[in-house]
Amino acid sequence: TYLRGLKSVEGRLGSFLAVDEEGALAQAAAIDARIAAGEDVGPLAGVPIGIKDNLCTQGLATTAGSKQLDGYVPPYDATAVARLRAAGAVLLGKTNMDEFGMGSSCENSGFQPTHNPWDPERVPGGSSGGSASAVAANQVVAALGSDTGGSIRQPASFCGVVGVKPTFGRVSRNGLVAYASSLDCVGPMAQSVADAAALLSVIAGPDTADSTCSQRAAEDFTTGLLPAEQLGSTPLAGRRLAVIRETTGEGVDAGVSAALSSAIQHLKSLGAEVEEVSLPSFAVGLPAYYVIALSEASSNLSRYDGVRYGHRAEADELWEMYGKTRHAGLGSEVARRILMGTYALSAGYYDAYYKRAQQVRTLIQREVGAALQQYDALLCPAAPTPAYKLGEKTSDPLAMYKGDLMTVNLNLAGLPAVCLPCGFAEQPGGAKLPVGVQMIGRAFGEAELLQLAHVFE
Ligand code: GLN
Repeated sequence: TYLRGLKSVEGRLGSFLAVDEEGALAQAAAIDARIAAGEDVGPLAGVPIGIKDNLCTQGLATTAGSKQLDGYVPPYDATAVARLRAAGAVLLGKTNMDEFGMGSSCENSGFQPTHNPWDPERVPGGSSGGSASAVAANQVVAALGSDTGGSIRQPASFCGVVGVKPTFGRVSRNGLVAYASSLDCVGPMAQSVADAAALLSVIAGPDTADSTCSQRAAEDFTTGLLPAEQLGSTPLAGRRLAVIRETTGEGVDAGVSAALSSAIQHLKSLGAEVEEVSLPSFAVGLPAYYVIALSEASSNLSRYDGVRYGHRAEADELWEMYGKTRHAGLGSEVARRILMGTYALSAGYYDAYYKRAQQVRTLIQREVGAALQQYDALLCPAAPTPAYKLGEKTSDPLAMYKGDLMTVNLNLAGLPAVCLPCGFAEQPGGAKLPVGVQMIGRAFGEAELLQLAHVFE
């Protein structure tokens, strides 16, 4: 049923880079057989899932949205993917994304744009835009995304779905095509908090294949999510929340501000105290993020040399082969970022850029950490605007980068954050576009954060 539905809208949306019809039907049949045999089939048995194309899938092409990896078929599953399969999930296909996760609109995909299901003239956000649109259009029940600087939360906001960026290290990065290794997180995108919690419970937990993966045992994040009738009228009584002042006001779309205000009212009506907190370093997080992410990317992407993976150009000399391969395989935004990252790391500039950015990162970590000593969670929009039109920002990379203002700091701090639909922003023509609110929790506080999100929802 899901495959039929997926295909009926895929021509309009372009959420997928590959649909594995045969594989999905075989997985579903295998689960049926195990059920018939009375076996325990796992918590996600038969649930149709989409996988962002930067997560390795054994026997199924994985491109990370890049022509450089066109035709690459991984010999192994990413840990998160293997855990989903073991829990019985059925993988329908690989979702579109900005090349190597570098972008905020899916327009940097090396293969195709994806269209926002709410308005096909608009972007779904990025870089996990294919996962977001697939979940929003119910092409899959849920999907995996990855978030280096907002790539789960911003597309969740643009498409009106739930997105969870876990604490750094909560989910293994093994088998995730690296963008910026100190920031990359794998997480779920779903139609409800309960669904996202179910996926996170399966994919989280220690993994010896990723040395930065936390030793903390996996938790069942669904158990604390009480049904509505057990919550009482003020389930958030005693909870203290704060809106980050630097993320409201100037530069924020009026529709986004209105949706955030109504979210705050809703939280208060549930009994929470909502104050405002100032985090002065928040504004400098954006340049720090771009220095750190691009520096790490310039190092990570050196592996695409035409020797080890994917595309290789014909040439007589080694250097010529490198040059031609990378020129043909890597898109212009990726090239720009490798150049900027290499520049920031070069001798003589290291102290001025990379080192300073790391100092800013520490400042942000301390500031957000201190606020979370005082409050149970922090609130801000997931993006300053709702979904914009395809092509609107493609010629202005800086304008695109600025849209990441509200998300990147939490990657710098390594903290968990959930994006939840909280209303609609009305457009001049009368169209309504979804808006998401971001809730930020303490390190490894996903259980508490998801409980809060569930009550809000
Ligand atoms: N838009 C941000 C960037 O381009 C974040 C991307 C991401 O989280 N992968 O770097």
